Amino acid sequence: MPTVHTLRIALFTLFATGRLAAQQAGPSPRPYRPGVDVLDYDLSVDLPDSGNRIEGRAVLTVRRTARTDTLVLDLLSLRVDSVLVDERATRFGRDSGTIRIPLPAASSDTLTIAIRYGGPVTDGLIIRNDTAWGWTAFADNWPNRGRHWIPSVDHPSDKATVSWTVRAPSRLKVIANGARLGEARVRGSNPPRTVTRWRMKEPIPVYLMVIAAAPLYEYDLGETACGLTLVGRCVHQWVYVEPRLTDFLPGPFRSAAGIVSYFGSLVGPFPYEQLAHLESSTRFGGMENATAIFYADQPFRKRTMTAGVVAHETAHQWFGDAVTETEWSHLWLSEGFATYFAALWTRKSAGDSAFRREMEEIRRAVLSSRVVAERPVIDTAEQNLMALLNENSYQKGGFVLHMLRTTLGDSAFFRGLRHYYDRYRNENALSDDLRRELEASSGAPLGWFFDQWLRRPGFPQLTTSWIYDAAAKRVILSITQDGRFGSYRFPLTIDIKTAAGRRVRTRVDVAAQTNTRVTLDPPFDTAPVELVLDPDVELLARIVRP
Ligand SMILES: [Zn+2]
Repeated sequence: MPTVHTLRIALFTLFATGRLAAQQAGPSPRPYRPGVDVLDYDLSVDLPDSGNRIEGRAVLTVRRTARTDTLVLDLLSLRVDSVLVDERATRFGRDSGTIRIPLPAASSDTLTIAIRYGGPVTDGLIIRNDTAWGWTAFADNWPNRGRHWIPSVDHPSDKATVSWTVRAPSRLKVIANGARLGEARVRGSNPPRTVTRWRMKEPIPVYLMVIAAAPLYEYDLGETACGLTLVGRCVHQWVYVEPRLTDFLPGPFRSAAGIVSYFGSLVGPFPYEQLAHLESSTRFGGMENATAIFYADQPFRKRTMTAGVVAHETAHQWFGDAVTETEWSHLWLSEGFATYFAALWTRKSAGDSAFRREMEEIRRAVLSSRVVAERPVIDTAEQNLMALLNENSYQKGGFVLHMLRTTLGDSAFFRGLRHYYDRYRNENALSDDLRRELEASSGAPLGWFFDQWLRRPGFPQLTTSWIYDAAAKRVILSITQDGRFGSYRFPLTIDIKTAAGRRVRTRVDVAAQTNTRVTLDPPFDTAPVELVLDPDVELLARIVRP
């Protein structure tokens, strides 16, 4: 999801409590709304000509998965006019955060719930009057702000298909998830209004269900990634910006075709039939709404947008959108992937040294992070969801994927990711689901790796020294782990620079213990000039020389 934002990081430190203990995997968490599964949202929204009052009708198709007599939907503050269950008017309970709907005892497993509601919207759907752009409405639901305007089971574990019917002033263009089904003038409307319909046929979580209504210029990027889609055709991409910024295009979106093709070649076909990129009013740098990525407006206006953010948000279409974390505590399955795939795009588009620099930058962020030192990546204790937008979910999660790739090798790593994507696409996953796929593709048990890097705070800090044993013609390397976060097990690559100017590479496996002393291969006739530890930036550690 969102690209990192300093404000959100700063906010986090207020809630950090200095806990150091590892959080164990524990039993599976309780489902968010046990006994119900929303299959489809058919959402109609009437947008105003000005102001922030909307009128809505939500028709939910809900499956009962266990005996439950009440459906609890999330909806903050808006007025609820009526609720129909299977077309029958139903008395419902209402409090400031939910609608409680009694379900008939004798009925089929699948129910239709129709809700009429409305009122002034204060969050989730961001309605704004911008001096440059005029009146605009852009949804911005992450993490659980969809409930400000969509009656819903607002949790990533309950994915559903969604249809949108949006009535808006005709001067605005309306974009939403999926494919546009059509638009028509609302008869007799003056000033003219248009009804636009969109349909997303793959299930997505509520935090990705969005609409945009704004004066938007459409830039057609054309068909891309042909042959790499699920439906056997190309992915059509567009960019939408405020009309005065058309000269900025295609700008960084010149890379959009290559990004979709490249990620498709690494993990499998693009999950959806098309992809739009929109300038918007999102509070995040970018928000990966399924098939309709919303980017912050300032980088467009300042013309500072880069392909990096496009790559990050596009990677989310596979990881986060198509494969969604079941629990917020596994957010790294979304943000770590997007961070690492953006770096892989850097490698593809700018080469190895640019990639190494990016990995160095990611590592630097981890090593200097307070939250990394205090909390594990899989942080089941954090209750403030915004605080999860931190260096654990993004940079450390990304670097963990990097270590998996460099340890398992490209072939096993990407085969595992392809299976993971194939198996959990349009569903939910937890970290252990990823672990199992990588274990199957590599044949290596990875429980220890996931525990060490994801369920414990911190990283190793190493103090190293070496000596040359002239009699044996051998280099002996000593590594001491400071143990601040426990001891770590890892492979370490070493480049040995010889007096003759050669560079010889060797690799050792360091065990999870305080002191390691290893004799390096091969033998050397004379003392080396220098040892370069981890030359390719593959280990998430602080390495100190005495
Ligand atoms: Zn992201």
